[in-house]
Amino acid sequence: MATLFTKIIAREIPAEIVFENEHVVAFKDIAPQAPVHIVIVPRQEIPGLSTLPDAGDHLAILNAAKTIAEQLGLTSGYRLVINQGEDAGQTVPHLHAHLLGGRKLSWPPG
Ligand code: 5GP
Repeated sequence: MATLFTKIIAREIPAEIVFENEHVVAFKDIAPQAPVHIVIVPRQEIPGLSTLPDAGDHLAILNAAKTIAEQLGLTSGYRLVINQGEDAGQTVPHLHAHLLGGRKLSWPPG
C-alpha cells in the first residue's frame, strides 16, 4: 500500500528533501517540533518498527541521521525518535525516524 511517504519518495508529493541515498530519503517535517526536524524514511516500505525484517541495512537510518546532523551543524546535540503504533502517536504507517535538534530538548519525552 502506497503511503504518504512512498509518494514523497517517488516525488509525487513535494517535500524539502535534505538527504538521500540508496537506502533512505530524508526531508523536513511539515509541522516541525524543533528548529531542525527531519524525517528519515527507508525506501523499503516497512509499516513500522514492530514489522522490521530481521535482515536488512537497518543501520542506514542511523548513518543517515549522523550525516544529516553533521551537515546541519547540530554540534551541541540532537535526538532520534521512532514512534511505533498508536500509543506512541505514529500517524504514517511507513517506518521513519524523527531527527530533532536546534534547541534544548527536554527529557523524558511526553
Ligand atoms: P509520526 O507521527 O507518524 O511519527 O510522524 C509523521 C510525521 O510526518 C509528522 O511529524 C508529520 O508532521 C509529518 N508529515 C505528515 N504529513 C507530511 C507531509 O505531507 N509532508 C511532510 N514533509 N511531513 C509530513
